[in-house]
Amino acid sequence: SDILQVNHVTKLYPNGIKGLDDISFNVKRGEFIAVVGLSGAGKSTLFRSINRMQDITNGEIFINGTDISKLKGKELRHFRRKIGMIFQSFNLVNRLTVQKNVLSGRVGYYPTWKTILGLYSKEDKEKAVRSLDHVNMLKKLYDRADSLSGGQMQRVAIARTMMQEPDLVLADEPVASLDPKTSEGVMKDLRNLNVKDHDTVLVNLHSIDLALEFADRIIGIRDGKLVFDKAAAQSTPDD
Ligand code: ADP
Ligand code: ADP
Repeated sequence: SDILQVNHVTKLYPNGIKGLDDISFNVKRGEFIAVVGLSGAGKSTLFRSINRMQDITNGEIFINGTDISKLKGKELRHFRRKIGMIFQSFNLVNRLTVQKNVLSGRVGYYPTWKTILGLYSKEDKEKAVRSLDHVNMLKKLYDRADSLSGGQMQRVAIARTMMQEPDLVLADEPVASLDPKTSEGVMKDLRNLNVKDHDTVLVNLHSIDLALEFADRIIGIRDGKLVFDKAAAQSTPDD
């Protein structure tokens, strides 16, 4: 079954630029898809359209069969909680511990009064420990987020996303600020999340090599158009 359907989506910005130009593709549950394209191709516009950070001009986006343009208020908030976001800049709360950052995945991206007071169930705390263990960061449980290296921060962000149990994960240039060796490790953790929990992941990548190594399928975007959509196994760097 398709978790995501993007049907003829166009995004026209007020300045006349088409961020997306009649783009269509479907995503099956459990797929790990790399979205590749040059800077300005429309990758971020695509992600902001899928998580409804911005509205599209034409077309439809369905997630789990629901037309997301129709969602508002409580339904929209509920929908957003089911989309896991991984960012280039990690978006951890610096002054909080690794544990609290991961626990915040339980409720959303930002701490509520409950999370600040540390009011979590035993079950949630155990789940945070399992998630951190999965990305090999358990030893940092009580360290402050800002004491970590970039690669460690991104692994904590991945654990936070596991805690969230999203239907769909959007990772926007997750390794763009990391060195090649660290990038490999982070991509492995992101990929592992997929294998273990059958989560569906869309990842924006600059590196075609990382896309070929880790993705099931590669979608290429240029000037807002879909120019490539193939299984990674059938792709080469020259495509
Ligand atoms: P990518 O993420 O692949 O680098 P973007 O989605 O950021 O590409 O941008 C696609 C195109 O849309 C670019 O030409 C960019 O300048 C333009 N664009 C992106 N965001 C906006 C915006 N808020 N207003 C106007 N144009 C935008
Ligand atoms: P990215 O490539 O990740 O989209 P950018 O630096 O291109 O990052 O964009 C950063 C922000 O600037 C985004 O919120 C985007 O919407 C906005 N933006 C990008 N291009 C334009 C543009 N041509 N006009 C107005 N805003 C833009």
